[in-house]
Parts: sequence; C-alpha cells; structure tokens
Amino acid sequence: MSDAASDVPPDNIFARIARKEISVQVIYEDDHVLAFPDISPQAPVHILVIPKRPFKNILDLGPADAELAGKLLLAAAEVARRLGAAEGGVRVVLNAGGDAGQTVPYLHAHVLGGRPLAWPPG
Ligand code: AMP
Repeated sequence: MSDAASDVPPDNIFARIARKEISVQVIYEDDHVLAFPDISPQAPVHILVIPKRPFKNILDLGPADAELAGKLLLAAAEVARRLGAAEGGVRVVLNAGGDAGQTVPYLHAHVLGGRPLAWPPG
C-alpha cells in the first residue's frame, strides 16, 4: 500500500463519486472498484473505472497495489463485456499527468469502444 492516497484531496470529483456522495449510473461495482459513464463520451461506449481507494494516477501505484491494479483491469474487461463492446474490441486508457492530458487527478481507466478507434492517439 503506497502513501499516495493522501495526495488526493477529499473534494476531488472522483473521490466524491467513490464515496457515493455524488450518484452515478453504476455499470460495475465490487469492494474495490466502481465503473460509471464518462460525462463527455468520446465513443458509443465510454466508461470510467476508478478504485474506491484514492490514488492520483497509475504512477502513484506501488508493488503493494498490484492486486488493486489487476482488479481495475479485470473490471474494465467486465465493463466491455456487459456493454457488448468486447466482440468488436475496446481500448483501455489510463492518462497519467499533464503530457498525457489527465484532467482529473484521481486514478481512472477509460474503457472506449463501440466504434473503430484510430491509432496512434493524438
Ligand atoms: P482524463 O482526461 O483522463 O483525466 O479524463 C477525465 C475524464 O473524466 C474526462 O473524459 C471527463 O469527461 C470525465 N469526467 C469529468 N467529470 C466527470 C463526472 N462528474 N462524471 C463522469 N465523468 C466525468
């Protein structure tokens, strides 16, 4: 377990969603992660998967967080299956830091699908 949890302010929007202070459409949930629709979808399927425990981004995960990282990825795959995007293919994106365009400093995986996705990304 890293010390990164303390780096996320309690009023962070995803921290508030994780604590259920803001209601969202729950696509997937277990004891460790929560998945809900992106407010500004970039594809027919655009879901965010967040850990319930706060981290700024993937760079704040340490070796002790390996199980949580795995649960996040497994949840992303489950989301793709639940929304019917698995057959066509999905892209799972984790932006971390300014150059990557991370705008919400709380670890989240984007699950994108439902249309062909261009590569390389911008
Ligand atoms: P990133 O640029 O990787 O930090 O992605 C942040 C994402 O969070 C963007 O795609 C936003 O559209 C999305 N977002 C911001 N606020 C909310 C919210 N309240 N509910 C759902 N998605 C949000």
